Amino acid sequence: MRIAVIATYTHPTRLRIKEPSIMQSSVPELIAGLCPEHAEVEVFNEKEVDIPLDRHWDLVFFSYLHSYYEHTKVLSTLFRQRGMTTVAGGRHATHFPDDVALYFDAVITGEPESNVPALIADFEKGQLQKRYERPSLGPTAIQPYRYELIDFTNNKVRLPGIEASRGCPFRCNFCVLTGHERYRYRPVAQVIDEIQTRMRWNPNYLGLMKDAFIFLDNNLGGSPKYLRELCEALIPLKKTWGCALTFNVLKDASLVNLMAKAGCRYVYTGLESLNPESIKAMNKGQNTLSEVDAVIRRTFSAGILLSFGLIVGSDGDTNEYLEKIPEYLADLQYFSVTFLGIVSPYPETPFFRELQAEDRLLPGTVSRDYDGYTLCHRPKNLHPSEVVDHFHRLCAQLGSLPNIARHYWSKLTLSNLPRYKQTILFAGPEILSIRNPLKNPARRYIAGMDALEDWDTKQMAALGLQPQRIT
Ligand code: SF4
Repeated sequence: MRIAVIATYTHPTRLRIKEPSIMQSSVPELIAGLCPEHAEVEVFNEKEVDIPLDRHWDLVFFSYLHSYYEHTKVLSTLFRQRGMTTVAGGRHATHFPDDVALYFDAVITGEPESNVPALIADFEKGQLQKRYERPSLGPTAIQPYRYELIDFTNNKVRLPGIEASRGCPFRCNFCVLTGHERYRYRPVAQVIDEIQTRMRWNPNYLGLMKDAFIFLDNNLGGSPKYLRELCEALIPLKKTWGCALTFNVLKDASLVNLMAKAGCRYVYTGLESLNPESIKAMNKGQNTLSEVDAVIRRTFSAGILLSFGLIVGSDGDTNEYLEKIPEYLADLQYFSVTFLGIVSPYPETPFFRELQAEDRLLPGTVSRDYDGYTLCHRPKNLHPSEVVDHFHRLCAQLGSLPNIARHYWSKLTLSNLPRYKQTILFAGPEILSIRNPLKNPARRYIAGMDALEDWDTKQMAALGLQPQRIT
């Protein structure tokens, strides 16, 4: 049996651009790890390579985000026309199983560990069901990824990823996890064994990226006690790693030092805003802004690059705050922003329900617009065009060469830990990528005002597919 596992991708500019960056979806390697040994499995990540449309597999699994749904529907329809069986899973499929069932042969609405093996067994018996929603088997059931399937030749900077936990204990109002997933984590010994015995390292750049990996968890610090145990166990491995976690974890200086000792050199945290009113509107009380500067300094001095994500368009945002962001950032001497987006009211979130009840979702919004870069609602204090103007200006300012130069000179000498300087240097392109949305000057970044990608528009017209309206 031949199986393909495909992580689809469409670029925020709606141009056909690849983004071979350090962190990539590992869902293909995860699903591949759940396939039986006798299956011949190929994995594709569309962020790195085009999907070969002339190939044949018996079974094709698709992993996608809300905004890739239309594109994924096109691919599934083309494959089904050629006799292949397609399967969709993930958060969008779980929330809209009936719509998804129209375009795929089967839909998985539960965790992959309990559902993928059952689906494949049914397929082999010729008894494929339309829906798979078996209950979770718990975090111990997470299987090692098929790291040997990662192709480091197409994406020379990619790092292998691993999950130690799933979910998050917080309840930010815009987050797809809120109300849907409780926090759970794998036994430390299982995680360590996977890193030691299964992980394959990036061989490029004369071994500079060897022994380095990323934790793919939404919040590796969901349980500080667990994080401590994990770090203690990582110390003897002498690996280098990065992760995402919440800002509150970084307030514990001893834990930050332990993370650095365990090999952590990169932490991403979604700070989201420097405006207390916006933080309140997002129910993100774990971000205490008064402590930001001191925490950043301490984290860099410990040898860890701390990078932040900011989003604009929340209900607390005002023109005054958005105009002043560059000034605020200049005051915070060591602050590094590597992601700038527009808050997206994903359909399964409390934020979406609030906007829907107040009739503030923009008309004509389709699933493609839920990409984290397109305004899908009317904020309380701003006109949609004001949000987009600020977004454009901030993309240009934060993703500028002087800003990268500032990042290098302010941080390169803060620590002498091995691989610290290397991490600071590798973050330069990430900062530059903030400018990416400007690559398509015709893009409006307001829901309902931008057409889908040319290729998808043509294919959908030919195949008789309609975009999914979500308002
Ligand atoms: S802290 Fe991050 S992962 Fe957790 S609920 Fe908030 S946005 Fe989601």
